[in-house]
Amino acid sequence: MSTQLTSGAIKVLYDDNKDSPLYRDPVVQIINIKAVAVAGGTRYRVILSDGIHFMQAMLAASHTSIVEDQSLKRNSIICLKESVCNILQNRKILIVLNIEVVASDVESKIGAPVTLEGSTATSKPADIPQTPTPSKPASSFASSSGANMQLEASLTSIKNLNPYQSRWTIKARITQKSPIKTWHNARGDGKLFSVNFLDQSGEIKATAFNDQVDRLYNMLEEGKVYYISKARVTMAKKQFSTLNNEYELGLENGTEIEACGAESSIPQMVYSFVKIADIGKREKGDNVDIIGVLQNDLGTSEIIAKASGKPMKKRELTFVDDSNMSIRLTLWDADAESFDAPTGSVVAFKGARVGDFNGRTLSLGGSGSHKVNPDSPEAQRLQKWYAEKGASANFESFSSEMGSVTGESLATPRIKLQQVREENLGVGKPAYFSFRGTVVFVKSENPAYPGCPTCKKKVLMEENGWRCEKCQKTYPTPDYKYILTCSVEDSTSQIFLNGFDDIGLTLLNMDANRLIALKDSDSAAATLVFTKALYKTYNFKVRAKEEVYNDTSRIKYQALEATPIDFIKESKDMVESIEKLLA
Ligand SMILES: [Zn+2]
Repeated sequence: MSTQLTSGAIKVLYDDNKDSPLYRDPVVQIINIKAVAVAGGTRYRVILSDGIHFMQAMLAASHTSIVEDQSLKRNSIICLKESVCNILQNRKILIVLNIEVVASDVESKIGAPVTLEGSTATSKPADIPQTPTPSKPASSFASSSGANMQLEASLTSIKNLNPYQSRWTIKARITQKSPIKTWHNARGDGKLFSVNFLDQSGEIKATAFNDQVDRLYNMLEEGKVYYISKARVTMAKKQFSTLNNEYELGLENGTEIEACGAESSIPQMVYSFVKIADIGKREKGDNVDIIGVLQNDLGTSEIIAKASGKPMKKRELTFVDDSNMSIRLTLWDADAESFDAPTGSVVAFKGARVGDFNGRTLSLGGSGSHKVNPDSPEAQRLQKWYAEKGASANFESFSSEMGSVTGESLATPRIKLQQVREENLGVGKPAYFSFRGTVVFVKSENPAYPGCPTCKKKVLMEENGWRCEKCQKTYPTPDYKYILTCSVEDSTSQIFLNGFDDIGLTLLNMDANRLIALKDSDSAAATLVFTKALYKTYNFKVRAKEEVYNDTSRIKYQALEATPIDFIKESKDMVESIEKLLA
């Protein structure tokens, strides 16, 4: 048996000693495995060994299938990718959330492991009922200020909540409490509010409706710690939540909530900050936490919301960080009006939503929050960085428009294509550049897609027309929009550019609907439209972005603008740069 177990890992996991190098990805052996019936299915209780010690563990529901198909069995060796140490009925039990099977078929137990239970006292047999004498993470046992011993003994962590287990108690701090929202529709009136609960393991959103709003709204206070049990665990409605949790809680009539006194073991707020430069790698609609220095505040303005037709207040802010990028962030309504921080302040945002308007932007919705000058090492570090370097640095932005808004120089330098290739622009994070180039080829197959006349999304031909899934409507004719691919050269190199409708219009000088009709009626005339587009020169503004297809990555170049050459302006620019050279 060549596989080595991580000696000493079980002790580290038992003590919840996250600082130990053995805590990360230890390799352990399953020396016993037992099915346990729980509401909604079967779970497996196992004993994990590192060859020296063993401890009890419970496999998360997601592992049930690999036990049932025999990929995981007694004596299998696994790598623990993610686990949490919990206390259940006075015993420590490791909840195993994520594993990799290292060796499935192993003949026998490795070493002669002994139990850790009771090891803090003199080592007594594990089956004698014990008074709780856990070693490390249960400081809550000792500091009994306001702690309910009975509830403490049965605590589950938020990360381990699932719909299959009904008997649990969490101890958590309310990091955010929403105002009461009301609705009126055909089915009646109603009201709701929600809170976010936080413990060391994670966060979960909880919502109360109608009667429960009356019962709980005044009782639950932001910042305070509570014991919560008998709430319903359901799948999270991700569109209404910014938290990273598959589940959420419904606070119901039978839900028990008890305030817990001063409790410092529960963190105030947990952020997982993303550098501004890395927001380029996030998808539209993702939620991120960022911390940045406020560089610009354009104040509040009023817009009419497209969806509701109602006026909304908004405030546009620009933030920078030490990844040397800036990003625009929008606050709405109450947040927009109450935001009050001088430029140069460090602000932390929880749950800001990524948008792709002009590259990348952020928007703080109703379930996000912010804190000005938070008391954290990260904030101090950024403040110091800003004072020493940041205040005088130049920041790249995700879009040219944003650059002009904030008075920065445009982030799209005019360069040569050879430079685009040599500098691998777009690798790692999107890059924007401009160049002057000549169109040498335009792909004539599928130059346009049938779009929805209302929302521009692609529509599909059906029996009785063109169907838009987004609008849930069928239209007699689609509105064709260009998605053009063309090859463009300058004096140094060549690239393939993709362009949407406005680029197609500029290059082909014809509306996409007319061109598609022409292709059907007179293909020679349509071919001529493509031929005529060749050997014309434009100033292009391009976004270079790395995209991964089937595990290979390549850079995609999207033409954002194609401007015919203004010879007078170009000449003036040239004269200017010559004069600069001579000066
Ligand atoms: Zn549509």
